[in-house]
Amino acid sequence: MQEIITVNPANGTELYRYRPMTNAEIEDRLTAAAAAHADWRRVDVRRRCEVLSEVARLLRAKQEQLARLAVAEMGKPIAEARAEVEKCAWVCDYYAAEAPRALADDIVEAVGSRSWISYEALGIVLAVMPWNFPFWQVFRFAAPALAAGNAVLLKHSPNVSGCAVAVQEVFIEAGLPAGLFTTLLIAEAEVPETVSRLVSDERIAAVTLTGSNQAGAHVAAAAGRAVKKSVLELGGSDPFVVLDDADIENAVTGAVASRFVNSGQSCLAAKRFLVHWSLLDTFSERFAEAVGRLQVGDPMDPATRIGPLARADLAAALHKQVEAAIRAGARALVGGGLMDRGPAWYAPTVLADVTPDMPVMTEETFGPVAAVIPFEDDEDAVRLANLTPYGLGASVWSRNEERALALGRKIQSGALFVNAVVASDPRLPFGGVKHSGYGRELGTAGAREFTNVRTVVVT
Ligand code: NDP
Repeated sequence: MQEIITVNPANGTELYRYRPMTNAEIEDRLTAAAAAHADWRRVDVRRRCEVLSEVARLLRAKQEQLARLAVAEMGKPIAEARAEVEKCAWVCDYYAAEAPRALADDIVEAVGSRSWISYEALGIVLAVMPWNFPFWQVFRFAAPALAAGNAVLLKHSPNVSGCAVAVQEVFIEAGLPAGLFTTLLIAEAEVPETVSRLVSDERIAAVTLTGSNQAGAHVAAAAGRAVKKSVLELGGSDPFVVLDDADIENAVTGAVASRFVNSGQSCLAAKRFLVHWSLLDTFSERFAEAVGRLQVGDPMDPATRIGPLARADLAAALHKQVEAAIRAGARALVGGGLMDRGPAWYAPTVLADVTPDMPVMTEETFGPVAAVIPFEDDEDAVRLANLTPYGLGASVWSRNEERALALGRKIQSGALFVNAVVASDPRLPFGGVKHSGYGRELGTAGAREFTNVRTVVVT
């Protein structure tokens, strides 16, 4: 079986080789997860949450080591990697405190002498996760899933296999009983088949996937055939709408923060910048100027804002989208191509003269590329904002909150932010509509997502 090889995208050097698990080894992990879950679901929720508190403590203690691992494997700037590990600790602390309340029985007066809703563990949940936030994507799902009494099998992206193994180690060190959180290392060529087989296995209760539409459709189809619950957190092409009465300085600062987080590799980054025609030139000029000032460099340097993309093929795919836009008449105000630092490096780019039919508008761009397009009036802004298969987040910038809210309500998205950059927060539910997926993570909704919402009536 071909080894899984991790590579530092900043310089192309090999990091580590992992031997993929055989089918028999995967079967052993599944059997262990089923046995561990049978006990864990009966453990008091408060005890389950104590483990999460210990996980949070360990994450903070190991913050630097974990952050450096993410930087080495997928190239994110170290300052963001440290913040990601801290956010994982936060989500564990949040659920340690909130899960007992969110999962407590809800008493409802109904037909019987007593009736209530209980939130009971579903079983083993298979998690298929991506490389862009190699820790956060895992913890935001796993913390509430484990608190609810489930077991987790993780199939992570191969380029972050070191992070995947490290997450399992943190759970074990924190005292989570063996078998409840297991990282599976699957040979790349066998991923679709093995994941489909696992989804159809009767010991697996549900599946969650964060990643591309293609991967999501494949996994959800397998879940559909097996009549199992699935949650999909897929891509986004969030609109960032700048109305004619917006505070332009704030909007430019927000635009840079939103589009260029994680070197542009975030599902909820703003990707399409819809600007009222009267502000177009000023906004575009200031935006391009600010983007041109972003510090590109060694992702291990705390001053770096933009590192390499996570893999060379991702930079090549991004460049195809930019080239197609430029061929069709778009203009790069800054950037517009690969950098000579190596094949995974892409220059921070702002595109002007963009039209709705260009791939930078119709597809998700997963890297440091912003597309700016003008609109005529509020109705035109809504039309353009909704001209995408995606529906993850949307932000609207205006000095008139009511106007921004009225416009924002007409945009189809799982989140609406006014005069703020769309961001996830453990306290607030997160997820999409349309091709951005379904189901919710985080908040109370996330605590209950992998539970059997069970009605109990006693007469
Ligand atoms: P993928 O969606 O292919 O990968 C995400 C996860 O899904 C990985 O663990 C991957 O495993 C797995 N996967 C992929 N195909 C299947 C399948 N058929 N059956 C089961 N599991 C599968 O993302 P890529 O890394 O290839 O990135 C491509 C694009 O996806 C990006 O450019 C971006 O547009 C989007 N993306 C969106 C993310 C988000 O946060 N919404 C995150 C990452 C990517 P394996 O790699 O082993 O196939």
